[in-house]
Amino acid sequence: MAHVLSGRAETPTQSRILTYVRDEGPLSRMDLASRLNVSRTTVAAEVGRLVELGLAEDGGPAASRGGRRSTLVDLDAGLRFVGIELGATSMRVAMTDGRLGVLARAAAPEADIRRGPESVLGEAIALVRKLLADHGVERPAGIGIGVPGPVDFQSGVPVSPPIMPGWDGYPVRDALSREFGTPVLLDNDVNVMALGEQHNGVARSASDFLFVKIGTGIGCGIVVQRHLYRGADGCAGDIGHIRLEQDGPLCACGNQGCLEAFFGGAALARDATTAARSGRSGVLAQLLEQRGALTAADVGSAIGQGDAVALQLARDGGRRVGSVLANLVSFFNPDLIVIGGGVAGLGHSLLAEIRSVIYRQSLPLATGNMPVVLSELGGDAGVIGAARLISDAVYAAG
Ligand SMILES: [Zn+2]
Repeated sequence: MAHVLSGRAETPTQSRILTYVRDEGPLSRMDLASRLNVSRTTVAAEVGRLVELGLAEDGGPAASRGGRRSTLVDLDAGLRFVGIELGATSMRVAMTDGRLGVLARAAAPEADIRRGPESVLGEAIALVRKLLADHGVERPAGIGIGVPGPVDFQSGVPVSPPIMPGWDGYPVRDALSREFGTPVLLDNDVNVMALGEQHNGVARSASDFLFVKIGTGIGCGIVVQRHLYRGADGCAGDIGHIRLEQDGPLCACGNQGCLEAFFGGAALARDATTAARSGRSGVLAQLLEQRGALTAADVGSAIGQGDAVALQLARDGGRRVGSVLANLVSFFNPDLIVIGGGVAGLGHSLLAEIRSVIYRQSLPLATGNMPVVLSELGGDAGVIGAARLISDAVYAAG
């Protein structure tokens, strides 16, 4: 079926209809009228317009509840969003339906953000084009993208990102929007991961939570009363550069002793390599010989093989992350902390250490009902969150 190009919601009522149906599934017109406190005639008119815009469609008859039969309103079955998550060394894209269920995904195995915006975005565009073509989608309703550095959300550009040479001020949002002829929003990768967990993951019912990504770098998405908090300049939650020691290891940001310089994926790979070369860990030495270079994932597999040095690296890192988070708990009083990102793949030994430090260093009142858990969506958190970011904009009025 030829699909009408979809537009954006035009009125607050349309916006609320789309959001309800996205988050709860098809709803009857009668139900929507009573939830929105408007007449059924108004609902019919607004739904009619949403159908014309290619955003909603008739979802068949609602189960009769004794009164007049009502018709279900559903999101247009042809509605598609795209989420893109660029990490320092990863690239994932996904295509979702209007409810942000993932229909198809793709990844670039050799991604490196340091290749610069033209090359990296070119590769992302090719991945998205292929995904859309494979599924016969002419144009998505919108694209969300997360990048591993601070972002000026209003203008859609990265701002002085420490690990993204060549990206400072590059018009990522506008370049993608021009390429695909659709609305695009750009945000920090940690923020989109937080949105993903909120939409469909472990933070579904959380109101005030922190999403901590431990990847090549370390960052934190801050959700306050169900809304992302970006800060005055878009760099809120940049906890990887909280300084732990004046004379600690050199960080990518140019300072010394940042949390991330002790325990980002890059720092972990560095320490694992040192342990392998010095002969302290036979397992890591063997992995280094096999692969030529070690990553955080290799530390995870060494832990799996019972290597004590690898386990100690995870524990030391967990202790440092936990110590920073304990301070954040005192400051922010979250109802949940979610740990995600590649290094979170170290799993239980890392989580146990983070938990124990937070619970030991924070006041009991602040941690009494505050779970510290691993991300539920794993590798999908960023792409689902990026799709959620743009869907919020497409479903919002005006
Ligand atoms: Zn730093």
